[in-house]
Amino acid sequence: MVIQGCRRLLGPFLASKRAVRGAPRLSPSHWVPSRHCNITGCSYKLRNVDLHPLWKGQLDIPGGTRQSPIDIRVRDSIFHPDLAPVKTHYDPNTCLHIWNNGYAFLVEFDDCTDKSVVSGGPLENPYRLKQFHFHWGVNNDWGSEHTVDSKVFPAELHLVHWNCTKYRTFEEAIMEENGLAVIGIFLKVGRHHEKLQKLVDILPSVRYKDSLTEFNYFDPSCLLPSCSDYWTYAGSLTTPPLTESVSWIIMKKPIEVDHSQLAVFRSLLYSAVGEDEKYMVDNFRPLQPLMNRTVHSSFQPSLLLSDAKKKSEKHTHRQQSG
Ligand SMILES: [Zn+2]
Repeated sequence: MVIQGCRRLLGPFLASKRAVRGAPRLSPSHWVPSRHCNITGCSYKLRNVDLHPLWKGQLDIPGGTRQSPIDIRVRDSIFHPDLAPVKTHYDPNTCLHIWNNGYAFLVEFDDCTDKSVVSGGPLENPYRLKQFHFHWGVNNDWGSEHTVDSKVFPAELHLVHWNCTKYRTFEEAIMEENGLAVIGIFLKVGRHHEKLQKLVDILPSVRYKDSLTEFNYFDPSCLLPSCSDYWTYAGSLTTPPLTESVSWIIMKKPIEVDHSQLAVFRSLLYSAVGEDEKYMVDNFRPLQPLMNRTVHSSFQPSLLLSDAKKKSEKHTHRQQSG
């Protein structure tokens, strides 16, 4: 029963493949939580703001204080010298399939064992990889969920992991403290991404909502940037149920993909076969307030040019007045 409740709660974004093949077809109206999460301070309130147009009607979302995504202000982030590099170990054999859930496309993994995990960084123990997906815009001017000093990227990749030491299932972890760890990676337009192309090539087969196709032997570590610097903060899922169970790890350096690869993302549809065609674009949540949170960085922030100029001006002024 709990599992059923969770499936309904998670909606198309997080539901399992059984939900796709099962009888009830999921729609945004099913994105209403059926039970409250257990996170302290995560009291549900009825709000109807800052929702994606696809999230029709009122939605129970946490009236909490650690919602995502956020704008990362580089100068306000605090360097944390104890933050180790994040270690991923993904077994390409655990890659199962890809499906269009009516909001994004998800590549899902077998998470019955510890074969594909992330550890290190701010995480106390390994977290198992469940799925990855992207958010993107209608054009290259926007699309990412997080921003850096208000800079928006054309797309953002999310690798979603759950705490398999503390919790028994992914569905349970979603509703609990320290349940999830999501690695966020920005995409910018540049060189062709050779490894991403295997995924891009399969996308036309999941053009319509609810379509699912086998997708095997893919190691998503090929989508990580070569630089290991990251920011980390406590946040939430950016899709219903929006629970505040996520340790976010946002990689500093974007990866490059070419325009034609993003164009294939934009050729997917929100709509199912037979429905009016609605292109799958702008599937991101608006920015949420930082509130009383600190963003930590694993790296010493480099002095921004504007800061350096101010400092040198101050120095000159002091010399003149002294
Ligand atoms: Zn996401």
